[in-house]
Amino acid sequence: MEIIKYPHSILLKKCEKVAVGDEKCARLLDKMLVTLHRVAGAGLAAPQVGIAKRMVVIDLREIDEAQKIYKMINPIFTWKSNVSVESEEGCLSIPFLREIIQRHESVSVEYLDENFQKCTIEKATGFLAYCLQHELDHLDGKLYIDLLSKVKRASALRKYKKLLEEQSKTGENNAPL
Ligand SMILES: [Zn+2]
Repeated sequence: MEIIKYPHSILLKKCEKVAVGDEKCARLLDKMLVTLHRVAGAGLAAPQVGIAKRMVVIDLREIDEAQKIYKMINPIFTWKSNVSVESEEGCLSIPFLREIIQRHESVSVEYLDENFQKCTIEKATGFLAYCLQHELDHLDGKLYIDLLSKVKRASALRKYKKLLEEQSKTGENNAPL
């Protein structure tokens, strides 16, 4: 699968819920995971590969051996901590750029796995918490740069445009989120 890059419009729209039992899902999630591994990323949301559906894959084992692979269908937050922390992020769809933003320190998420079994992640912290927020935001057409102040966002996008021009050669970035 090809990674869709900003400012493609699919990255800016709210994705549709997956119909429970949709047989295409497990295969799509597997293909997304193969893509995620190919580009050495940590998380990938379906709109980033051109599918406007609420599906996410996360694999943080490179960063934290204790982590596992998550294949998520229709994930939702069930809780967010009131404490905010700094997170330095990049995005496969906005290559070359990394910015520091504010995230909730901890979140809980409910989702269906590839077999449509209900799963929960209780009070995730650290990279998993940031990654969940980053990827679930993608499903609502929200990018991490949207969490920057207006001025910082504009300057980040100027920087992005310049970097894109400079590195117009093809190739994937390996931003961790
Ligand atoms: Zn992203």
